[in-house]
Amino acid sequence: MGASDKQARLDQIAAEIVKNNVCPDLAKTAKHLVFGEGNPNATIIFIGEAPGRSEDETGKPFIGAAGKVLDELLASVGLQRSDVYITSILKYRPPNNRDPKPEEKEAFWPYLSAQLQVIQPKLVVTLGRHSTNCFLPDLQIGAAHGHPQKWETYTILPLYHPAAALYNRSLRETIFHDFAVVNTLL
Ligand code: URA
Repeated sequence: MGASDKQARLDQIAAEIVKNNVCPDLAKTAKHLVFGEGNPNATIIFIGEAPGRSEDETGKPFIGAAGKVLDELLASVGLQRSDVYITSILKYRPPNNRDPKPEEKEAFWPYLSAQLQVIQPKLVVTLGRHSTNCFLPDLQIGAAHGHPQKWETYTILPLYHPAAALYNRSLRETIFHDFAVVNTLL
């Protein structure tokens, strides 16, 4: 599939979320669906937890403070947003940024899985505990961060969530150090 066919299929998946009325309570309080964006032919996909306030306002993933850290992380290995694809497990903002509920993560899983099947990245970077445990439920992020894992046909690189870097300097260093391994994975 070429990039424009892939993008058309991704647009369809986003429309299915609305049509199928996924998580109607979240849909009611959210301003926008934040489906994901980036290069449909990306070799790396980043998967966060859920949209926050800025993402909900605009419909774009990771554009707030955590997104700034993500941009710096990309720059640290010579990448830009247009090289990668960025999304989150939940496509609607939970009220007051509360943690995603297990049933919400389950409800969005088929759509995330469909996104992966279209994009077919080589590397899935899971940001934080919720995202990591959607793929590998038994992993402890505190031990597994920075250690590539196999999941189905993909390599998964678990990282701490970039939001954690905002308030903790040593976690920030850890995230950048962990991410440097991408150059050996691709
Ligand atoms: N945190 C996430 O996990 N996703 C976003 O899109 C923004 C912040």
